[in-house]
Amino acid sequence: MAEPSIKINVDNPTEVARETLRRLAMRRIAPTPDNYQTLFDEIVGGPSPTNSNTPTAATALSGLVMDLNLHHPELGETVEVLDQAVRKGDWGQSRKQLGQISRKLKQLAEANSGDTRPQSEDLVLLRDLLAKTLEFGVATQLPHNPKLAEKAQQLAVSVREAHSADTLSKAAASLKSLWLSIEIQSSDTHDQQETLKRILLLLVENIGELLDDDTWLRGQLNMVQDVIAGPLKIKSLQEAEQRLKEVIYKQGLVKHGLREATATLKATMTHFVSRMSDVVAANDEYQEKIASHIEQISNTEDVLELNRILETLLDETRTAQADTRRAHDKLVHERDIAQQAEGRIKQLETQLAEMSTLVREDPLTHSLNRRGLDDEFAREASRADRYKSALCVAVLDIDNFKALNDKRGHQRGDEALIHLVNVAKEELRLTDQIARLGGEEFLIMLPSTPLDAAATIITRLQRNLTKKYFLDNNEKVLITFSAGVAERALGESQESLIGRADSAMYEAKQTGKNRVCLAPDAPQEPAK
Ligand code: GH3
Ligand code: MG
Ligand code: MG
Repeated sequence: MAEPSIKINVDNPTEVARETLRRLAMRRIAPTPDNYQTLFDEIVGGPSPTNSNTPTAATALSGLVMDLNLHHPELGETVEVLDQAVRKGDWGQSRKQLGQISRKLKQLAEANSGDTRPQSEDLVLLRDLLAKTLEFGVATQLPHNPKLAEKAQQLAVSVREAHSADTLSKAAASLKSLWLSIEIQSSDTHDQQETLKRILLLLVENIGELLDDDTWLRGQLNMVQDVIAGPLKIKSLQEAEQRLKEVIYKQGLVKHGLREATATLKATMTHFVSRMSDVVAANDEYQEKIASHIEQISNTEDVLELNRILETLLDETRTAQADTRRAHDKLVHERDIAQQAEGRIKQLETQLAEMSTLVREDPLTHSLNRRGLDDEFAREASRADRYKSALCVAVLDIDNFKALNDKRGHQRGDEALIHLVNVAKEELRLTDQIARLGGEEFLIMLPSTPLDAAATIITRLQRNLTKKYFLDNNEKVLITFSAGVAERALGESQESLIGRADSAMYEAKQTGKNRVCLAPDAPQEPAK
């Protein structure tokens, strides 16, 4: 058996002595002073020169005696006798005592465990492990509670320094109190999280109540509600955050445009009103002038004077006419600007309302996302129940899509997904809907369509995909999919219906891909 290599400080006589004794025991060598000296030399590296500063076997043995006294009081007077023998240089006696000590230690070790390794070595290891766990496993997990983290760090230090039963039991007590504090803290954190969640839900619900028809805000609130209703998963939180950021950014752009357009309208209106009063004032002035001219006319008999008045009058009328014409043109022009601004506002408002679709749409393919699908399915299902009409869904999964990605890159893969959705949209009726279930999996919803007709439509889509190629740098790439079609039973849930279509799709995969399989009828609901 190889001896475990332990780093020995050769300048420390106690350590050297202990290691010498350990090797004696390991190699089952008789504990004679000669053997002891040989092993001692082996450990310190060659026979010791007779320098008073370097440890000799005798000083090392004295060190051992001190060490045994300290750590093994149970050895009792054997150690004392050894001590005296070493002092006298009585190697015969020393040998006898070392033999006894070695036997006793062996008995003790065997009594403690079946392991032949000295127990202290395990203890050192365990102590170190515990200290490291406290430092790196516990303290680092308490960033929000610096006091507790500090406590864990201090405890790691005292564990490292705990060499006696007393200090160890003190460390154990501190450890217990640390667990207690951590437990209290973690239940506090959980309570805090739950309370925050409840407050947020209340807030979102309350805001929802205040919004009558603000679809664009409602879409976002619904998303927040969905996310906090379930268990808080970092992935869905991040996804919701990302989606909201997109929407907020786009809404920001639209709102900015809206503000600008409103400002233009206001400026134009102000101008319009001031122009109006200008025109009215000009007319009043004109009226006054006319009145004065009329008076002048009535008061004079002079033909020459009349002529002059008439000329002035004509002149003024012409000016007034031109003024009025200009004012009119300006008014028309300003009205046009106002109308344009109004039109722009309407357009921007429509755009803002359309933003709500962002949270219902898959941003890559512009097909419905899960939320959009849920809304549309609810609508179609209740319509189907009301009119007792057929409703089918088809689950599509692109064949060997991973290979396409691997061969042509993720970007081409994305384009292929967009291509599939575009071809499907061209192919389907306006009332049909396509939604992305995730990855390269889609759902097509076909209202008022029985099972066999739905299968025909999906098969036709499959055929047309082979005609409308997807082009990768002018190279024609054939995209195929496997599909499962299921017809909804009266009152059947979305989950159950999609589940049946999905099983049929799986069957299509299993039986060679690029196929359409039909789901068997749903099991009958028990009569009420
Ligand atoms: P099968 O015919 O059995 O359906 O094989 P498959 O390779 O299509 O199916 P698999 O589920 O093994 O691989 C689907 C691949 O689709 C793995 C993933 O990298 C890829 N994928 C999922 N989402 C996207 C995406 O949004 N864009 C792109 N480009 N690839 C995606
Ligand atoms: Mg798949
Ligand atoms: Mg696939």
